[in-house]
Amino acid sequence: MVAGYNTSCTLHDMGEARGSITVFTGPMFSGKSKALMARLETKQRAHKKVLIIKPALDNRFGVPDGIVAKKKGLQRFEPCDSMPARSVSSDTEFVEMVKREKPDVIGIDEAQFFGPWLGAVLIEYRSVGYEIFVAGLDLDAWRRPFGPMPDLLAYADDIDKFTASCFVCGQDARFTQKTGGSSSEQIQVGAEEFYEARCESCWGQPN
Ligand SMILES: [Zn+2]
Repeated sequence: MVAGYNTSCTLHDMGEARGSITVFTGPMFSGKSKALMARLETKQRAHKKVLIIKPALDNRFGVPDGIVAKKKGLQRFEPCDSMPARSVSSDTEFVEMVKREKPDVIGIDEAQFFGPWLGAVLIEYRSVGYEIFVAGLDLDAWRRPFGPMPDLLAYADDIDKFTASCFVCGQDARFTQKTGGSSSEQIQVGAEEFYEARCESCWGQPN
C-alpha cells in the first residue's frame, strides 16, 4: 500500500495482475488527447470497460463530461461525444468513482491539473492489474514541470512524447506559448485561444 489508497477492494476478476501505466505527453496542440482516445477506443472494441476521468476544473464549453480534443480539419477544440469522461476533483472522488464503475481500463485526460496524489493512486491501481492510459501537458507555459506529471512520467511503463508544429515557423514544437489572458496563472482552462505551440527558438517567457 502506498499513501493509504485502498484499491484492493476494487479488484474484480482481472486474472493475473498485469497492470501498466502509459503516458501521452507534450505541448498543447500535439494530439495527446486524440492519441488517448484512439487507444481507449481500441480497448472498447476489445470489449473492455473503459472509465475516463478528468479533473473537475476542465469545463471547456460548459460540457463537463467529454474529452475535449481538436478534431481533424477543425481549428478549434471540441468535445468528443464518443468518449464521455467523468469529472473528479479529489483523490477520494477518484477512488470512489473507480470502485463504483469497476472498469477494466482507466483513461485520464488533462492529468496535469490533478493534485500531487495522482501518481500514488495510479501506482496502486497498476499494482492490482489495471491498464492505465494518461494524457497531460509535461510543461506549463513557463516550461516548468506541470502538476503531477513528473511523477507520472517517472512511474510510467511507456511514454509517448508528442510534438506539435510551431505556430510561428512550422518546426517541431515542444513548448506551449502563452499569448494572452492572465499572465501569472499556471492553470487557465478553456482558453486555447491564449496559447500556441512553439519551438525552442520561437518560444518566449510570458509577459
Ligand atoms: Zn518556431
